[in-house]
Amino acid sequence: MRKRIIAGNWKMYKKAEEARSFMKELVDTVPASENVETVICPPSLYLYELAEMTKSSTVGIGAQTMHEAKEGAFTGEISPKMLTDIGVGYVILGHSERRQYFNETDEAVNRKVHAAFEYGLTPIVCVGETLEEREAGKTVDIVATQVKKAFEGIADSLAPTAVIAYEPIWAIGTGKTATAENANEVCGAIRNTISELYGKDVADALRIQYGGSVKPANIDELLSMEHIDGALVGGASLEAASFLKLIEAG
Ligand code: PGA
Repeated sequence: MRKRIIAGNWKMYKKAEEARSFMKELVDTVPASENVETVICPPSLYLYELAEMTKSSTVGIGAQTMHEAKEGAFTGEISPKMLTDIGVGYVILGHSERRQYFNETDEAVNRKVHAAFEYGLTPIVCVGETLEEREAGKTVDIVATQVKKAFEGIADSLAPTAVIAYEPIWAIGTGKTATAENANEVCGAIRNTISELYGKDVADALRIQYGGSVKPANIDELLSMEHIDGALVGGASLEAASFLKLIEAG
């Protein structure tokens, strides 16, 4: 049985006090016995404080991106070593906004997946097609290629501990969600790709999230699908009340 994982991606939202009070509510409310892995990915500015606040709770903290190097003259960047040093456990890699606006290529994502594992971070590897690619019937090809490139050279022993987030780009922040059946179909294709690369046991263990306009109203249906093991949530993770509903659904 794969443990579900619900992750909130705050993107570039929230002031410090809002981040703090959200996290206080979450830490007070998410029970220790919770059967769902809960992760918040705040702007990097708040990582340290929120990691401190969640130290003795079951809530995990993730970065939204990182540099691949351990350290160096890379103005403005943060490294995987710094993230683990302050108690961050996860990192989102290859989010479509990073790919689109910050030129993050499949090769860069692959180097970052290696770096994440090297420093003990769980990578949440995002893949997904554009509307144009979907309409041209290329969805499975696109996501399979992204998965293969992201996992190039990753050892069999590490691969099942990664998380993949399937996020159709046309569904992010648009209110449009892939139908649960459709999302499941693509997540199934991703699992097949992992199976081709690493075999069935690894494919059965690796968790696949769906992301793209996930909210309390559609989470149950999405999570009832065979290949969907959780959600990567943008908009609906900004309010503690709606995020808590998503965790309860898990
Ligand atoms: P959304 O964002 O839930 O606001 O669609 C999802 C994401 O970008 O991870």
